[in-house]
Amino acid sequence: MIDLSKKIYLVEDERSLNILLEKYLKLEGYEVTTFSDGNSALERIKDMPDLWILDIMLPDIDGYEIIKAVKGNNKNTPVIFMSARNEELDRVVGLELGSDDYLSKPFLPRELVIRTNKLMERVYGKVDNEPVDKLIEVGDYRVSRRQRTVFLGNKEIQLTNKEFELLNYFVENRSNVVSREQILINVWGEDYFGSDRVVDDTIRRLRKKVERLNIETVYGYGYKLVDKA
Ligand code: CA
Repeated sequence: MIDLSKKIYLVEDERSLNILLEKYLKLEGYEVTTFSDGNSALERIKDMPDLWILDIMLPDIDGYEIIKAVKGNNKNTPVIFMSARNEELDRVVGLELGSDDYLSKPFLPRELVIRTNKLMERVYGKVDNEPVDKLIEVGDYRVSRRQRTVFLGNKEIQLTNKEFELLNYFVENRSNVVSREQILINVWGEDYFGSDRVVDDTIRRLRKKVERLNIETVYGYGYKLVDKA
């Protein structure tokens, strides 16, 4: 399968927002790389992703420095920036530096997704992966992130929201061992206060529903999706 997904570099030092935005953009079919400070992002300017999404207030450097560097490298690379500071001033400075769109915090993740899709379409034309769904093959199964469902042949397997997110997390980390804690943070979120038994329970249910999938238990640590293909 040819991977047509567009690459996004996201710079946001606020960890929970970083994770949330990454999740939304990935579900939309984008390939997302995240950074939590400015300097590590600056080192990757030459990678030339299809879009940069930048926070202005970063712990080390100003997000404006990154806009300058991105546009200095290639003025056509689109940039969306986000800020919670003096809105009008930020908007003016950011746009003067060549940024293409602006979001003032707080915003709904969905709003960023809509702006991203619009900007991508404006810059690169109609996105190829629409309306055709991108299916990810895992063993005998095919996973559709857009429809949030999994197929065995033509048969759709009914998963709950959490079961799907858990499966999706395994697919993203296939062949790697993931700990219960990592699963809990990435699937349930950092604000989850219940027991990590919920991970084991959900995995038990997921294994029953996708029984041909090999989710191994790594004793005392966590789990691993073994990709037999
Ligand atoms: Ca910030």
